[in-house]
Amino acid sequence: MKDDRQLKIESALAQIGSLEDPATGAVNFPIYHSTAYRHPGLGQSTGFDYTRTKNPTRTVLEEASARLESGDAGFACSSGMSALQTIFALFGQGDHLIVSLDLYGGTYRLLERILSKFGVTASYVDTNDLDAIEKLRTPNTKAVFIETPTNPLMMVTDIAAVAEWAKPHGILTIVDNTLLTPFFQRPIELGADIVVHSATKYLGGHNDVLAGLIVTKGKELSEEMFFLHNSIGAVLSPTDSYQLMRGMKTLALRMERHEQNSLAIARFLQEHPQIETVYHPGLPEHPGYDVQNRQSSGNTGIFSFKVKDARWIEPILKNIRLIAFAESLGGVESLMTYPTVQTHADIPLEIREAVGVDERLLRFSVGIEHIDDLIADLDGALQAALRETEGAGN
Ligand SMILES: *Cc1c(COP(=O)(O)O)cnc(C)c1O
Repeated sequence: MKDDRQLKIESALAQIGSLEDPATGAVNFPIYHSTAYRHPGLGQSTGFDYTRTKNPTRTVLEEASARLESGDAGFACSSGMSALQTIFALFGQGDHLIVSLDLYGGTYRLLERILSKFGVTASYVDTNDLDAIEKLRTPNTKAVFIETPTNPLMMVTDIAAVAEWAKPHGILTIVDNTLLTPFFQRPIELGADIVVHSATKYLGGHNDVLAGLIVTKGKELSEEMFFLHNSIGAVLSPTDSYQLMRGMKTLALRMERHEQNSLAIARFLQEHPQIETVYHPGLPEHPGYDVQNRQSSGNTGIFSFKVKDARWIEPILKNIRLIAFAESLGGVESLMTYPTVQTHADIPLEIREAVGVDERLLRFSVGIEHIDDLIADLDGALQAALRETEGAGN
């Protein structure tokens, strides 16, 4: 619906696409598979010419995404990585980026192995440290790229502070908002220029669609992104656009349950004798707690924790049953992963260790199952791990 900026976000989400098909009144916007569109006459267009440039189903998703993130334009991509690649195509030979230190492994790989070939360099830093950021700034610095909270260590960056620092220098602020989604955090309202999502995660929410989203603020940047999106062509298919909208309709309900469950499990683990540290920005002990509360209206469903003994990792992953040992995050099903060998293998050991991603760290993407079942599963696996290592006769 066109004027849903006035609606509360729960309503805007539930009604994505529901008023967009005046021909039939379909409550769910149809999937337009057509790649070609008849021209009414010479020099005339229905607004649709060729599906890479613009597709009706994708447009409904893109316009809804722009409104949800308080931006001016949205672009749906075939994956989070292709969304990032499209954004990074803004930069070229000699350009410099300042990037969050505890970064998604794939983003690091894209910058270091691919963008580097095009002469784009990146410096990695704790983006909460404005002095450190300022020290890295050069006349060629074009953007600062933030993940907040970071995955897996849940470091929180003050988006408004970074955007305020960047703006006078003409530096773009780009925020990967995958973990919180616009339901909990809207970086453009805090001063960011570009928001990016792996929509594969919470926006899709069901571990069944790979997608990425870009939202831009400002006419010039939106036009440039439109050019890059069409020219690179890593666009989301009509079927996947539909599938993603279908998932997004229940985002509010899911995020509320993800937050509740993850906080309850984080508190349970905090008291658990086999756990050393719990990294959850919803806990008052977390260093990012205040900033997180100020800039977001809630917490994501993922967090990490460190067990006291590295030998427990293998038996824990073997003994969880309801919780799946699997990569990815943000779906209704609970997944647990071991970042140091799964998601962060492409990040050099010294960076991984500097931020604390080590051999005792597990990351938990808490699903929407009943909290009692989740705690029983996790506690059972921890107890089994203890028994197995004691049995090994240490
Ligand atoms: C998964 C993820 C990506 C990459 O997205 P894909 O959809 O897997 O291509 C980027 N950033 C973050 C924070 C992610 O979790």
